[in-house]
Amino acid sequence: MNAPAQSWERREIGSFFHTFTDLPSLREAGPVVFARGEGAYVQDTAGRRYFEANSGLWNMTLGFSEARLAEVARRQYAALPGYHTFFGRNSGPTVELAERMLALAPVPMSRVFFTNSGSEANESVVKLLWLMWAGEGQPRRRKLITRRNAYHGATVMASSLTGKDYVGAFGLPGPEIVTLGCPHAWRCAAPGEDETAFVRRLAAELEATIRAEGPDTIAGMFAEPVMGAGGVIVPPAGYFAAIQPILRGHGIPLVADEVICGFGRTGELWGSLAVGLLPDIVVASKSMSAGYFPMGAVMLSPEIDRRVTAACEAWEEFPHGFTTGGHPVGCAISLEAIRIITEDGILENVRSVGARFQEGLRTLARHPLVGEARGIGLMGALEMVSDKETRAPCPGEWRIGERIARMAGERGMIIRPLGSSVVLAPPFISSAQQIDDLVGVLGAILDEIEAGRG
Ligand code: PLP
Repeated sequence: MNAPAQSWERREIGSFFHTFTDLPSLREAGPVVFARGEGAYVQDTAGRRYFEANSGLWNMTLGFSEARLAEVARRQYAALPGYHTFFGRNSGPTVELAERMLALAPVPMSRVFFTNSGSEANESVVKLLWLMWAGEGQPRRRKLITRRNAYHGATVMASSLTGKDYVGAFGLPGPEIVTLGCPHAWRCAAPGEDETAFVRRLAAELEATIRAEGPDTIAGMFAEPVMGAGGVIVPPAGYFAAIQPILRGHGIPLVADEVICGFGRTGELWGSLAVGLLPDIVVASKSMSAGYFPMGAVMLSPEIDRRVTAACEAWEEFPHGFTTGGHPVGCAISLEAIRIITEDGILENVRSVGARFQEGLRTLARHPLVGEARGIGLMGALEMVSDKETRAPCPGEWRIGERIARMAGERGMIIRPLGSSVVLAPPFISSAQQIDDLVGVLGAILDEIEAGRG
């Protein structure tokens, strides 16, 4: 006899071990299983349709039904469905993608290698830096500078680099990590301290930290141009211009983690261009394949390339790589995604609807519950407060971010809660109307919560 058919949701609870999922909320509301997608919308197995205001995890930038990406994948699967880049082997789309990325790099870069994810790319950079410094007779240069609230991924070193308390669950960060303050002026500037003074203080903190740790113990610094999972933190004007000379003075390479910002999210092709960051190494992922294939990349400046290559001599190779890094299907998809973003008006759309989105968020900043509305391009956040004057955070038991996200879900919008904030990252193909609807729904939810508070 056949077992009675069970819903996907019930089967899911019985079999699936969820990642980054609030377990009390999961127990209360249950999972949502999606069946299909079209444009900026996804549909669950019950037929409910949602505007994906987070592009999945920031990555489905071209939406959920881009036929041109499916078509290049189909063609590449037919021609060469997989290969690797070990032992001097390669495939055409992989070489072509490397060339294309170098041509588009935010500053001159000389070579690139591919991974399957952003975490793997950051993890690879750590190994590459350690190999480089050891090869130059400075094996003590192993420490890595990061910042409070940074997110760099989920592998061991990428977690260590992530400036969030939960990494303590794994006994991280490890001993090599040095964590600086978060460049969030609204939350972290001292009373009466303007942005210029705040930047000066952050730069002084960096200089003092490097001196205290010992410059000859530091391998590199990682930074997202605009922090994403930390709550969309746009650094204050002049921040990177102030810290880069200090790093350069101590010979410390700066790694731009462009996993979220890269390929258009900020309205510039690279977040680095939006915030004046001049990277020595660039890490990319997410938009690079528009989420249609797991892809990550590491680009090296000519100087880093030369130094790492010299350090590899002693080992007769770069002893590192991933079986499916540089997968020809992923590279073919990425080439097409990048072509669509750069040549088919997508970047222009991010700029125009992004400006509308930012304007809409700024109007919500006037709401009594909203402490700060912030963002750039098509990434934004609203941070709620219990007292607008004092900026007091909402008490944890309000679960305000969760509540707003749940109410948005009931209105057919997927948004992401983050403590007292909600984070938004609509697809690059969003229309002006979809952006207006999103802002309108958020405003109505805030009004409803505020009315209930009264
Ligand atoms: N770096 C940044 C800035 C990210 O936002 C993320 C993921 O969200 C990662 C790295 C890790 O990428 P992945 O989840 O592909 O390993």
